[in-house]
Amino acid sequence: MIRLERVSKIYESGGKKVEAVKDVSLHIKKGDIFGIIGFSGAGKSTLLRLVNLLERPTKGNIIVDNYDLNSISSKDLRQLRRKIGMIFQTFNLFNSRTVYGNIAYPLRLEKKSKEEIHQRVTELLQFVGLEDQADKFPEQLSGGQKQRVGIARALATSPDILLCDEATSALDPETTNEILNLLKKVNEEFNITILLITHEMNVIRKICNRVAVMENGRIIEEGEVFNIFSNPQEKTTKNFISSVVNEKLSSSLLEKLRKDHERKLYRIVFSGDTASQPILSTLTAKHNIHFNIIYGSINELQNQLFGNLIVEFIGADSQIEEVLKELTEIVEVREVTNGES
Ligand code: ADP
Repeated sequence: MIRLERVSKIYESGGKKVEAVKDVSLHIKKGDIFGIIGFSGAGKSTLLRLVNLLERPTKGNIIVDNYDLNSISSKDLRQLRRKIGMIFQTFNLFNSRTVYGNIAYPLRLEKKSKEEIHQRVTELLQFVGLEDQADKFPEQLSGGQKQRVGIARALATSPDILLCDEATSALDPETTNEILNLLKKVNEEFNITILLITHEMNVIRKICNRVAVMENGRIIEEGEVFNIFSNPQEKTTKNFISSVVNEKLSSSLLEKLRKDHERKLYRIVFSGDTASQPILSTLTAKHNIHFNIIYGSINELQNQLFGNLIVEFIGADSQIEEVLKELTEIVEVREVTNGES
């Protein structure tokens, strides 16, 4: 659906060059909810503007819906623009137009008849749950309602792709969840491919199936959300994950745990099927030792469970060795050292 091949974007301002996007290759498939996460300045907005056809790449190719943006005709470009909807952190609504007027706007631009516009806007108002707000003006709405209008307006021309620029960053956690659920519904009911940028791992965890982590203009890690969460490779990715998955212990707590528990501590990471099986109790019973869970969490991700526990084993050293050997064949096991909390 969207393919970026070795794309770079260099801005030149005041005689200085800024390489905002560096050699990025990505493939977003039809039906994906693809998230790009990174800190401020990582290059996310530039990447989104490249896909949105607002910026031209300095190097590389961008292919959207089988059109190569380097060689697209202006007629096809106009056509393609209609297939891409966009929503924004600050909603970008027309304050002088009502909710109805905002949603109708892109249809008026397309010179649709009054009846067609009325039918489509009514459908969309219902879809986003704002049937009773049609005559209100944006300033009379809450942030969540404004974003619902933004979503309805983006959907008005029945796009194939929805781009979301930090769409929930201005909202409280509860409203964020409502809007994320609505985006999931957009994806599932209309089979619209969603590309979103965010600095919040919570957004990725809640709705994305794939994620790319961006840093200094580059994609440093990319893959299925479940795989990235259960086995992150890069430090930045680990930091983002620890902001939503409570797996990191403070060094003071680790020190205290070490004082209270003199034995070696092990971090065990379960994912998928292994997270719901009684592996620890089965293995420790088999080798006649005990285990003690010191700290841990089990989370839901993409309809799968994944757990992260710190345990100590109590029993004969030789038996503990046997349990560790067998455990390592099934799940990820690491001894917790002072450097890793
Ligand atoms: P993010 O969305 O991840 O915060 P941006 O894509 O906005 O990142 O910015 C990436 C880098 O490109 C930053 O160093 C930013 O200052 C620079 N940049 C973004 N837009 C422009 C522009 N129009 N002109 C010059 N530099 C820009």
